[in-house]
Amino acid sequence: MREILGDTPFMSRCATTIGQVRDGNDECRTSPWVDKCNGGCRAAAIAKSPNFCAPDRSSCLFFRHGWYNRFKAVGQEALDAYLAAHPELVADSGTSGSKDQADDTGPFSNC
Ligand code: SF4
Repeated sequence: MREILGDTPFMSRCATTIGQVRDGNDECRTSPWVDKCNGGCRAAAIAKSPNFCAPDRSSCLFFRHGWYNRFKAVGQEALDAYLAAHPELVADSGTSGSKDQADDTGPFSNC
C-alpha cells in the first residue's frame, strides 16, 4: 500500500498504529479500558476532534458507562442458557474415559 500511496499524509494516517493512538492522548493512555477499547474508531474520533489520535467518544460511552459490562452479562446469560439446553456441547469433565471422547460424534467433532 505504501508503494501505491507513496509518502503522503493519507499513507501516514493509514499507517498509524494502535500504540500511537493509545499514547496519543492522556485520556486513552490512562484509561482503565484501553486494553479492550484501544482508543476506539478513528473515523468517529476525527469526526469530533482535529486530533487524529483523540479518544472516540462513542467508545467512551460504551465502555465507561457500563454498556460493555451489560453486553458481556447478557452474552454470558445467553451462552449459559444455550449450553444448559445443549449439554452435549459441554466438555466432559467427568471420569467417563478417553474412549467416549474419542468416539464423540457431536456437532463440532468434524471441525
Ligand atoms: S474508553 Fe475512551 S478514553 Fe478509554 S481507551 Fe476508549 S476511547 Fe480512550
